[in-house]
Amino acid sequence: MQAPIAAYLQALHAQLAGANAGELASYIPELTKANPDWLGISIVTMDGVAYSVGDAEQLFTIQSISKPFVYGMALADRGQQAMSEKVGVEPSGDAFNSISLHPQTGAPLNPMINAGAIATTSLLAGRTTEAQWQRIESSIATFVGHPVTVDESVYQSESSTGHRNRAIAWMLKNFGIIEGEPMASLENYFRQCAIEVSCRDLAYMAATLANGGVNPLTGQRALPAEHVGQVLSVMATCGMYDFAGSWLYEVGMPAKSGVGGGVIAVIPGRFGIAIFSPRLDAKGNSVRGIEACRRISRDFGLHMFQQV
Ligand code: GLU
Repeated sequence: MQAPIAAYLQALHAQLAGANAGELASYIPELTKANPDWLGISIVTMDGVAYSVGDAEQLFTIQSISKPFVYGMALADRGQQAMSEKVGVEPSGDAFNSISLHPQTGAPLNPMINAGAIATTSLLAGRTTEAQWQRIESSIATFVGHPVTVDESVYQSESSTGHRNRAIAWMLKNFGIIEGEPMASLENYFRQCAIEVSCRDLAYMAATLANGGVNPLTGQRALPAEHVGQVLSVMATCGMYDFAGSWLYEVGMPAKSGVGGGVIAVIPGRFGIAIFSPRLDAKGNSVRGIEACRRISRDFGLHMFQQV
């Protein structure tokens, strides 16, 4: 017999499959090669079981969904106190690529906007940027539960066009937020954004956060428990670009989206959810990803501040 959750996901997929609002991200030229009709939905439970429907095995680039995980790595490496001197935790209300830096200190407002994420990547443990890259690659692999690779063409595409992020990195260097060589850290940031994942992989990453930092399938710890709440807090307040307030109000889950079309949401102690659908709204969020989460939140009463 089919599990009720699998039947639910199939019905949800059927309801959303015909919706075709939104556009592929095009500012990274390579992202326009995605099939706009792809739609995958995965839910991973705390016993490590994945329920998936649609294009849940299709690989795509993680993009900004890497940001909360790399922030968690930096918290583990540097400690919360040291991180708070470099990167804030205030929602900016600005677009992901805004130059939102504190006017006096130059600290980016939060680690979910590009400025904060580029700074965070530069602050990881490692004596060289190669060592810092190894840190990213192996930690993401622990969250996912298997080794990951980089989509080299998306990486090259962003590296050769990402001049705005280059300007942001130099601003961070100007303020002393980035201590080392900013362009090498920026390349690590571009590479982390080009890590290939499937929707199912993302659901395992979300489920690892839901499970207190331990991958529920492999049993491996990906993030010290003391930092899980900090990561989920910035996801709740800053995870959905300049839609974060409306998202928390309506859907009520810590979440993060990326311009590759992925969205993750975390229900602590219960599920990791991921949706992959590359058509984006004007703020850069997956249109069907948002709608799927809205429905899941409503249908299962999962809004974190709402006792039904
Ligand atoms: N690599 C992308 C950038 O820096 C990530 C943006 C996103 O997914 O929001 O522009």
